[in-house]
Amino acid sequence: MRDKLEKLKSLVGDAFELRRVAAVLDWDQQVGMPVAAAANRARQTSLISSLAHEKLTSSELGDLLAYLVPEMKNLDPESDEYCLIKLAARDYKRRTKVPAGHVAEFTHLTSLAHSKWESAYAGSDFLIFKDSLTKIFKMRREYADFFAPYDHVYDPLLDEFEPGMKTASLIEIFAVIRPLQVELLREIAACPEPDRSCLEHKFAVDKQWQLSRTAAAALGYDFSRGRLDSVVHPFTTSFNLNDVRITSYAKEDNLSALSATMHEAGHAIYEQNIAVSLENTPLASGVSLGMHESQSRLWENLVGRSYAFLQFFYPKLQSAFPVLQSVSLDEFYRACNVVKPGFIRIAADEATYNMHVMLRFELEVAMLEGSLAVADLPEAWNGKMEEYLGIVPPNDSLGCLQDVHWSAGLIGYFPTYALGNLISAQLWEACREKFTGLDAAIACGDFGELRGYLCENIHRYGSKFESMELLKRVVGSGIRPEIYIKYLREKYSAIYGL
Ligand code: ZN
Repeated sequence: MRDKLEKLKSLVGDAFELRRVAAVLDWDQQVGMPVAAAANRARQTSLISSLAHEKLTSSELGDLLAYLVPEMKNLDPESDEYCLIKLAARDYKRRTKVPAGHVAEFTHLTSLAHSKWESAYAGSDFLIFKDSLTKIFKMRREYADFFAPYDHVYDPLLDEFEPGMKTASLIEIFAVIRPLQVELLREIAACPEPDRSCLEHKFAVDKQWQLSRTAAAALGYDFSRGRLDSVVHPFTTSFNLNDVRITSYAKEDNLSALSATMHEAGHAIYEQNIAVSLENTPLASGVSLGMHESQSRLWENLVGRSYAFLQFFYPKLQSAFPVLQSVSLDEFYRACNVVKPGFIRIAADEATYNMHVMLRFELEVAMLEGSLAVADLPEAWNGKMEEYLGIVPPNDSLGCLQDVHWSAGLIGYFPTYALGNLISAQLWEACREKFTGLDAAIACGDFGELRGYLCENIHRYGSKFESMELLKRVVGSGIRPEIYIKYLREKYSAIYGL
């Protein structure tokens, strides 16, 4: 069995390394590659992906797993070996169920769909994108059917991003938070809006970059094993545990570089603190998008938008930007936490963000089930925006065309953003119960207890346990949506005097 296990490690380990090679190419493309090289680069990345796919669907791997899976009963379920076989078997099953022809056709479809989406978005004309999106949903339904029987047609899609999570659970979770968040927003809307004019100045971008670096390092992002670069759409990428890179963007007319950098640092701190023993195996990466997002959002919002963090960081902002010197910490804190329904998801505040996600989830499910025709998407989108946030986008670029995800075929991805919010609040609450002096430490710029708690309970395990199992190990339960609502209510009651 030992030698078979070693063979498995080397086979899936090589495929994992190929994925990381592709990540280097992708980072390079987004950070500095000449645009003219796009076609060449596409050929290179698709070559690398197909090499990895070949290994991960090979009969050699199938034979190894056929031998090793029955042997799992002799292994400790907590051991790296057990978890590796389990993960490799799940991945193998998923990959081999889908015919290569389908994969190739879908890749071709989405690459064409992307340029259609770009034109549709630029001209705010849904009709340009409609046929591509119709085909994408049709092919995603076909994809789901390779996994039949399923409880829900959305399950196989969701499983790609949040392994183990079921559509029925999501529906239940969202049924809890939807009315409570709508009610909270209604109460907030009835209050006078805090003054946010202190954020409406020009803030020099070089200073924003300096402050972003300071903040990321203070949280615990290790710059000796990473770097920060400027891009159009910020992301984090890991080449290995000693090279986890973050990206951000800075604009003169707001301070969003800081929150974007803290968000990406949250993703990166997760990846940088995976146990070294898992390196070079597929276990050496964050377990799911929801769990990943819980880390980024925890640092960006629960820490970054907290009063305690600003006690530590606001003086640095004031010395970088003298225009803030006449603005008190209290005023600045309130300005950073204004709740205002808006059209754009990525610009949404903590109280409205989940509404944007639920809207997308409900529309995805409806289009997949066939109860909503893709042609009717703009109207359905606007109807839900009005119902949930009380506003109707004036055009489709500010509505159903705003996200790139669907053009890339990413159906089932959006819910992980909301799961991240919900998990972040549960981890935050559990950590604060354990360390009663957490706020005081954060106010002094000491993030060691929080980071240590997350490393100890989440990061070091990489992908060993599915996200809901991992959460259960830390907080004793799966998702408890009421904790996020409690967090929102407490925070905004203090700010708005509800
Ligand atoms: Zn993120």
